[in-house]
Amino acid sequence: MRSSAALLLVAAAVAASAFSSPAPPPRGRPLLVTVDDLPVSSARLHPDPGERERITRRLLDALRARGVRAVGLVTWRNVRDEEDRRLLDLWLEAGHELGNHSFAHPDLTRTPVAEWIADAERGREALAAHLSARGLALRFFRFPFLREGATEAERREARAWLARSGQRDLPVTLDTQDASFEEPWVEARRRDDRQEMARVAEDFQASLRLAVERQERVGDELFGRTTPQILLLHATEVGAEQWARLLDGLQESGHRFATADEVLADPAFADPPAFLASFGCGLWDRIAHARDEERSRAEIEALLHRQAEAWSRGDVEAFASAYDDDVLFVSPSGMTRGRAEVIARYRERYPDRLAMGSLALEVLDVRTVWGRETSPLGDALPGRIHGATVVARWTISRPDRSTASGLTLLALERGPDGFRIVRDASM
Ligand SMILES: [Zn+2]
Repeated sequence: MRSSAALLLVAAAVAASAFSSPAPPPRGRPLLVTVDDLPVSSARLHPDPGERERITRRLLDALRARGVRAVGLVTWRNVRDEEDRRLLDLWLEAGHELGNHSFAHPDLTRTPVAEWIADAERGREALAAHLSARGLALRFFRFPFLREGATEAERREARAWLARSGQRDLPVTLDTQDASFEEPWVEARRRDDRQEMARVAEDFQASLRLAVERQERVGDELFGRTTPQILLLHATEVGAEQWARLLDGLQESGHRFATADEVLADPAFADPPAFLASFGCGLWDRIAHARDEERSRAEIEALLHRQAEAWSRGDVEAFASAYDDDVLFVSPSGMTRGRAEVIARYRERYPDRLAMGSLALEVLDVRTVWGRETSPLGDALPGRIHGATVVARWTISRPDRSTASGLTLLALERGPDGFRIVRDASM
């Protein structure tokens, strides 16, 4: 009885696995490969059509051998003639998708936004026509240099154009310096300098491996899980020679090549933050910066709230603990330097609880201070937020007197113990 029940269970399990159980989820970190500046990244280095085709075919071979379905981003100025259109068709025939990367690769942060949109629209029209003649639709756009606008107006107008024209911004999570190896590689190859080529190849591989490791660590820490990735590569000759080893290395380190639809369905891509800067960087570094921005604003709000509470309970020392030792306090009556002197000034002007009344500080504007940094690999990165300027309205209410109110401009620096006020101009 017992053994026949066990047999039945085994039979049921076999039947289930053979006929009804879904396939196990694929293993490995999903990775979308994207290739910028198609058909060939540098027309200046590769004017010869035969060379352009050889590069294209080798890039496609490396992808095909590993079952990669990539998205190629076309810079339409690089499509010079019929032969270059044919190179785009090789990508399409190999099962890859093509997206728009503008016509002349303009930098949104250095080009009037209307001019930038006109250029990107010119690229879109040309590529959309090429695709629709082949029964395909254009879905993706990638910002040249990953620069999405240094001002709110630039960002808003570029995004509105994307929405109007039905294109989706295809972000990058793994920003790399692969294109910077193209010129040294081509020069060494033309001299037939094997030693130099081998050296460039090693640097290419090491640089990409480190860039992938660093940015994946940032993404995984932000989301507390294994994040899917979007790798940025360029259509280069050095890539044509190095992609096989690069892609094999990625598989060995636990990556699984995935489609754009699979990767972009991940919630990590749902709500990319506004990143206003004159440079571009990978998505995880943008999100990390946006979180630092939120944290900084919350810390500053909390600091001013604690200050107001201390004042309102008559504790001038606690109120002034938000000030740096060397604070400079400026008011219509003059300038006071140093925290101790600021405390003495307040004590003189507000000698008791009644005179102090209760203080409210309403934050009207916060602007954080940070800049561009460069990683050891040459990637531009947002620097840590190290300060802020704040405009606030102060209001002192006293039961027996009229309410006093005014504005204050604070400059804050962020040290190991958080933000401190280094300048205070109250009026
Ligand atoms: Zn580009």
